[in-house]
Amino acid sequence: MNDILEHYTAVTHQIDQAAERAGRAADEITLVAVTKTWPVETLLAAYEVGMRHFGENRAEEMAAKRTAVDDILGPDNGIIWHQIGTLQSRKTNLVADHADMFHALDRLKIAQRLSNRLMQTAHAPLPIFLEVNVSGEASKSGWDMREWEQNETQRDNLRTAAQTILDMPGLSFAGLMTMAPWGVAEAEIRNVFRRTRELGQWLETAVSQPLDYSMGMTDDFEIAIEEGATYIRVGRAIFGSRR
Ligand SMILES: *Cc1c(COP(=O)(O)O)cnc(C)c1O
Repeated sequence: MNDILEHYTAVTHQIDQAAERAGRAADEITLVAVTKTWPVETLLAAYEVGMRHFGENRAEEMAAKRTAVDDILGPDNGIIWHQIGTLQSRKTNLVADHADMFHALDRLKIAQRLSNRLMQTAHAPLPIFLEVNVSGEASKSGWDMREWEQNETQRDNLRTAAQTILDMPGLSFAGLMTMAPWGVAEAEIRNVFRRTRELGQWLETAVSQPLDYSMGMTDDFEIAIEEGATYIRVGRAIFGSRR
């Protein structure tokens, strides 16, 4: 608990500093505390010190933790639950029923299933981030936007995806999410975040809507903030190495 408070205070300070370097207001940035692999007690300790946004990678884990936390704290606890990992078709109902935001849409088929479920259950529209891949890492999922500056087809694909989300009654369109490649130089990470932000600025004009940017994790959230992130997803810097 003391460790969590100490780490949370340090991360909050780093957020403030990075925002200041970029000439941004720190309150434009939402810290999503990534609790994957940690038990409900850890989440409650984080809640106790003031965290309200929690991120989970696996839909089952989020559903189970949300149910347990709501039982303990009551349903009006003010927590916003973020599904941050990509989703398989057969898990869509878990996310539709338990998540407040979804950061990693990689296929429109998943969006259709989410929207259908949300319509049936009369939930509020679920905000969706499209995951984009500007770095060319073979392992990364999401829309291939490696050459978006030169490649009109890539831009068209993304605009069509965004418009499709906007037209689905069960969903709303939040913005773009990306993951920086592993083990590369800072300049390359920065470039990935910058190009994602620039792509988003193009898309904002194309769909006439301001967007959010979900980018930055423990190792790179300060760079992401300098490059325009509005949601950062941080696990290890708050909770330590995962079990
Ligand atoms: C685990 C995870 C994070 C957090 O990673 P840390 O390195 O612990 O900060 C962020 N985003 C996604 C999609 C994750 O799966």
